This record gives sequence, C-alpha cells and structure tokens, in this order.
Amino acid sequence: MPKNLSTKLIHDDYFPPVGYQAVPPGVFKGSTVLFPDAVTVRERMRAFGRRDGYSYGLYGTPTTYILEQRLCALEGARHCLLGPSGQAAIALVNLGLLAAGDELLLPSNVYGPALRHARTTLPPLGITHQCYDPMDPADLERKLGPRTKLVWMEAPGSITMEFPDLRKLVAIAKENGVVVALDNTWGAGVAFKPFELGVDISIHALTKYPSGGADVLMGSVTTNDDALHERLRIAYLDLGMGVGANDVEFVLRGLPTLEARYHLHDASARSLATWMASQPAIGQVLHPALDSCPGHEHWASHCSLAAGLFSVLFKSGYASSQVDSFCDRLKLFGIGLSWGGPMSLVMPYDLPSIRSGKGCYEGHLVRFSIGLENTDDLREDLEQAMKASFGR
Ligand SMILES: *Cc1c(COP(=O)(O)O)cnc(C)c1O
Repeated sequence: MPKNLSTKLIHDDYFPPVGYQAVPPGVFKGSTVLFPDAVTVRERMRAFGRRDGYSYGLYGTPTTYILEQRLCALEGARHCLLGPSGQAAIALVNLGLLAAGDELLLPSNVYGPALRHARTTLPPLGITHQCYDPMDPADLERKLGPRTKLVWMEAPGSITMEFPDLRKLVAIAKENGVVVALDNTWGAGVAFKPFELGVDISIHALTKYPSGGADVLMGSVTTNDDALHERLRIAYLDLGMGVGANDVEFVLRGLPTLEARYHLHDASARSLATWMASQPAIGQVLHPALDSCPGHEHWASHCSLAAGLFSVLFKSGYASSQVDSFCDRLKLFGIGLSWGGPMSLVMPYDLPSIRSGKGCYEGHLVRFSIGLENTDDLREDLEQAMKASFGR
C-alpha cells in the first residue's frame, strides 16, 4: 500500500465482494473504464463503441446498459440508444439516416421542435421536408416520392391530439419502401406496441412518463432492425451522445411504476376531460378516448389506455385575457411545458402559430397534463377557476 495521502485516497484496496446485489441497479460512473491488462485493451479497441463490452464511459456502463435492456423490454425491441433528451433522439434519427438529396415527411401536427429541426438544421445539409395530413392517408401517399427516405408519425398529434390511422399510414410507407419512425412519447410503451404495427424505429422522451418525476431529461431510440441500428449507432458515436449515470438512475427508478402511473393518469384525465366537456364555456374537448376528438375511432382500434393529456377549445368569442386568467386562477395546476410528472400542468396555446390550414381550430386552446393529485381536488380547482373567469 502506498504511504502518501493523495495516493492512498486514489488507490484504495477495498473492493465490494463479487455478487453484491440490492434491488436498485448500481450506479456506475466513469469516463475512463479500466482494462484488466494491456492485451484486453487491443481486443476492446477493435470493438470500440460496440455495446457488448466496456471501453469508455461515453459508450456505455453497466447502468446505461440496464436501462437500454429495460427499454427494449418495454418496446419489444432488440436495440436501444440513450440520448440526452427526446429532442436529441429525434435529431439522431434524422441525422443518422438522411443524406443530401433525401426528403423526410412529418405529420402536420408534429411535436413543434421536430418541425423546427427540419426547417433549420436539415436544409443546409441538403435534406428537405414536407408535412402531410396524418388524418388523410391519401395525403401521405401523394407526398411520398423517390427522394422520401423517412416518414415520422406521432399518435396522437402534439397539442391538438388527433389520433391517426397508424396501421394504414405504416402500410402506405412500407409499400413504398420508406423507413417509419414513430414518436412514442404519448403511448410510453404502455398504450400500444409500435413494432407490432410495423414501425421501424420508436423514439421516446423518457423525460415524460418513463421518468415520471419531472426531474430529468432523456430520450431513447429503439429498433428491431440490425442495419438501421448500425447506421444510428455510428451517428450516435460521431455526435458524442451519451447520458449521465445519475440521470439514468432516475429513469431506472421511475420505470417499475410506469404502467401503474399510466393507468392513474389515464383514469383521472378521462374523468376530468368528460367533466370539462359539460362546461358551458368549452366548445370541444380533444382527448382521444372521447368521441369529440378527431381520430377517436383510430384510438379505439389501437389502444384501450390513454395518457393523462387533453386539450380544450374555449368557445370563440372569449377574450384571450379571460382564458389566461382561467389558467392563472388554477391553484393545483402549474403553468409549464413538458408533462408526465406528479404535478398537473396547464398551458395556453396560440393555435394559428402552431398549426396552419386544415386542422386549424377556432377559439383558444388550453392543454392539460393531469398529474397524480386526487381527481376530486383537481375538479374543484377547475370549477373555481371556470366560475371566476367565465361566470359559470
Ligand atoms: C417532450 C416531447 C419530446 C421532447 O422531449 P425532451 O426530452 O423534452 O426533449 C418529443 N416528442 C414529444 C411528443 C414530446 O412530448
């Protein structure tokens, strides 16, 4: 044993016994991964960045591999890559699979920052995009062309909540030999199984239900296709994407309760959405499990569960200041982006700025993410804010 303090504090000779186990997986950290000997270095370097051995912290640790395996189990997939956010997962798919001259198709109700990515980062690389109407499969068919290499799908659409006929959209894309990527954040691996529908790649914002704590940002890209995974893996290495062990720990802690929480969010949101539909100030409730929502029949043919998200459209004629004051008066609903955590959230949206043309609504839209508070307490809160802002 060395005699000097700093050396002693770095080179300790206590090692945990092999086979030590507890319920939570260990949180392994490290940029440097130590090799047992010099010969092993050469072996591992040949497989650098492969996910079947440890070579460098950026390329995975036992902690990140455990999360990848559990997400593969959640999705019914063979391969998983973890990125620092849901948005990073989306960008990874685009950058990994598209090249100059290629075109990607996005649903017109796509998650906003995914559209921004297609409008800003991709055009200078020679990659173009078009938006298709996800509620009109013929529109997808019309927009598929010889340059189309990737079609994104989202079910339901962000904010306006239309549920598309995924089976039909996937079939059209596959007939044309185009790769299909699905943003599965809403379904969370619980509501429906994308790979059973023929989707090639599924991405998640683990930030939402898988973590469940509103305390961590992370994303995943899963697939069953070895060749697609290989292309994504190369881009992943080149972009230097990785995740921190402490963040992975949070998601690992959330996963065991994912399904149970999803059921609770669902039951509470459906009850509150139904109540909202009875309110005189409300014109339309957009919740895929209610038949007032476009695509309700497709939701019913793909799912029996729904996430805790819904939007409401106030009847036209109300001032935006009235809708703002309704949001401000809610005591149990935080005003904020993202969703999937314990606290209920509310967000007013300016529809013309997020949608154009077909599928645009009249009136003010407010989106709710229902958390895990008691449903009656939430209903009372909605009721008092509704009365104070709309007089009934
Ligand atoms: C939140 C969200 C994302 C992005 O996730 P971040 O981790 O916040 O980057 C992507 N898609 C959908 C549908 C989302 O709701």
